[in-house]
Amino acid sequence: MKIILAENSGFCFGVKKAIDSAYETVNNKKNNVYSLGPLIHNKQVIEQLKSKGLKTIENIDDVKNGKVIIRSHGVPLNIYDKTKENNIELIDSTCPFVRKVQKKANEYYNKGYQIVIIGDKEHPEVIGINGWCNNSAYIVNSMEDIKKIPLLNKLCIVAQTTITEEKFEKLSKEIVKKAKESKIFNTICNATQLRQESCKKVAQKVDAMIVIGGFHSSNTQKLVKISKKYCPNTYHIETIKDLPLEDFKKYQTVGITAGASTPDWIIKEVIDIMSNFNNHNENMNSMLNSLSDVANLEKGDIVEGEII
Ligand code: SF4
Repeated sequence: MKIILAENSGFCFGVKKAIDSAYETVNNKKNNVYSLGPLIHNKQVIEQLKSKGLKTIENIDDVKNGKVIIRSHGVPLNIYDKTKENNIELIDSTCPFVRKVQKKANEYYNKGYQIVIIGDKEHPEVIGINGWCNNSAYIVNSMEDIKKIPLLNKLCIVAQTTITEEKFEKLSKEIVKKAKESKIFNTICNATQLRQESCKKVAQKVDAMIVIGGFHSSNTQKLVKISKKYCPNTYHIETIKDLPLEDFKKYQTVGITAGASTPDWIIKEVIDIMSNFNNHNENMNSMLNSLSDVANLEKGDIVEGEII
């Protein structure tokens, strides 16, 4: 079996920074360490950090003392005031690309523009951005949502960093019709775009694709969607244990990609098992039993298969 690993896959810059800082904080902790919301959409990493003492909270008011980590998605502006008032120490891991969107929303809100965020209204990043313009933004995720926007003088469009270019183009073209003057900021993150392009490139030339990442991770779900478009045999898994190995007897070429919140060790597990997979292998259980050894692989270990 030939394996092609997508060039851009796994932890993005912002998530890596947040996770490194979380491990450093819990490893040196003298007091309680909290994360405001789950640090990333990856169950395995969350469980590991929890075992080291990281507590996940949903409300900043629940913290009386200790350090609070702000995840890469960022938070509404008023959270900074609250932590200052209560003397709570912040470890701010807001991704710099998300900060850029928050600042744009804040700047143009203060200049009198109506802010429109293209993205998912339930996503913490979008909730956070909205909190930088006094929770006054219209949040648009479909053509239907645009109908709710009245005719305006000035509007400013920003995007959730993980949406597709296609969605941004399509929706922003319609949104601008709602105002006399529009400012459009394509704030889609480069990391997301690179992952999506690499995914498409690989999905076009393989028999099956494995997309690794949290089932609730929005950027992983988008990779799955793109992959399915070019390769119907797409498997979304969180770890190798979710993969129906039996199916892979029929595939000659397999592509692998991973969402921005998938750590290297989970990707390595999958690559290693698949690299050693023989299309006629009858003894798949023994391969799965060797997972604990695979999990000990370090960066730089040789991976078989074609790496593009
Ligand atoms: Fe930052 Fe982009 Fe990663 Fe989001 S996907 S955390 S914006 S680098």
